[in-house]
Amino acid sequence: MADLLLRNVVKRYGNYEAVRGISLEIPDTKFVALVGPSGCGKTTTLRMIAGLEDLSEGDICIGGRVINDVAPKNRDIAMVFQSYALYPHMTVFQNMAFGLRMRGLSKAEIRKNVEGAARILDISDLLGRRPRALSGGQRQRVAMGRAIVRHPKVFLFDEPLSNLDAKLRVQMRTEIKRVHQQVKTTTVYVTHDQIEAMTLADTVVVMNRGRIEQAGTPQELYHSPKTRFVAGFMGSPAMNFLPCLLEQNAAALTVRLADGTGFPVPESHLQRYRDAPGKPLLFGIRPEHITEPRGSVRGMFSEFTVVLDVVEPMGTETMVFFKLGGEAVSGRIDSGMSVPASGEKMRLVANMAHMHLIDPATDAVI
Ligand code: ATP
Repeated sequence: MADLLLRNVVKRYGNYEAVRGISLEIPDTKFVALVGPSGCGKTTTLRMIAGLEDLSEGDICIGGRVINDVAPKNRDIAMVFQSYALYPHMTVFQNMAFGLRMRGLSKAEIRKNVEGAARILDISDLLGRRPRALSGGQRQRVAMGRAIVRHPKVFLFDEPLSNLDAKLRVQMRTEIKRVHQQVKTTTVYVTHDQIEAMTLADTVVVMNRGRIEQAGTPQELYHSPKTRFVAGFMGSPAMNFLPCLLEQNAAALTVRLADGTGFPVPESHLQRYRDAPGKPLLFGIRPEHITEPRGSVRGMFSEFTVVLDVVEPMGTETMVFFKLGGEAVSGRIDSGMSVPASGEKMRLVANMAHMHLIDPATDAVI
């Protein structure tokens, strides 16, 4: 186990900068997820850590030692890919033992490591089977087992769950988290799925166009995004963004939408927005903060009426879609509530304690 450091890491392919100066410190035993849209440079970053790509600039250190020029096999890193790349003619035991045999471990040591990892992954009964006789989830476990047996300093995962169906993905996600809690190996996990990143990682790193937009705990990124990109990327369905102006009336501030709808800014936010009145802004609010009026809660809730476009019952909640200030907006309604049909009016509240304002000139959250 060891800490991992990336210092101003750049990767160029010809004139194209795929990774544009990434610095990141991952303390020993921590789980970091790199998340971002396709092409943002997350796989390239992971491959540079693994040694499968050279760096154009910068340094990568493991346990305090610069490893830029260390061959992949000598980096003491184990990587789990999207395609599990198991040897089809070998049993599960042989697949997991392969790397250890290459390293010249004794038979007894190999057996102890493989059986230990198999217990952690709950695949002890499968050790005699060939990969073709395994389900997708079981193959994924074997691929993880092959990584665990090596007791590497760092685990790298590249979209390991994307070949699995939705239900299995959720199961394996929990499994990966459980395994990490047991083995505590420093981990970098690449995914385009923000839910996967948030559920698994101590630190989520949101990448965009070769740069880090923001790194922080899942809660920090979700509740205090620093840019419009992060605000829109984290959370599903995505945050609503509505063009607005901030009106000042004595000490009070009001978010004014294009159609005249006004939402009072809570007192707790007044200081932060003191320089914002007068310029065009974006009002950001998540769907779960637009709900049905809830009698018992008072204070930061601001009521308004909409005509519903679409109503989607989801079981645990009902999503409602409507136009507000000329923009398409979504809200989340408690599934126990009766919701009017599409085309009908509904009274809603915005929980302004969770409002965001974005400066469209810089895309920064104010
Ligand atoms: P995805 O989720 O689609 O895998 P990603 O965030 O992992 O995306 P990368 O695979 O890191 O993205 O690619 C980042 C950028 O670098 C992309 O624009 C890609 O086209 C480019 N790129 C990657 N590998 C090469 C290469 N060998 N030669 C040229 N360009 C490359």
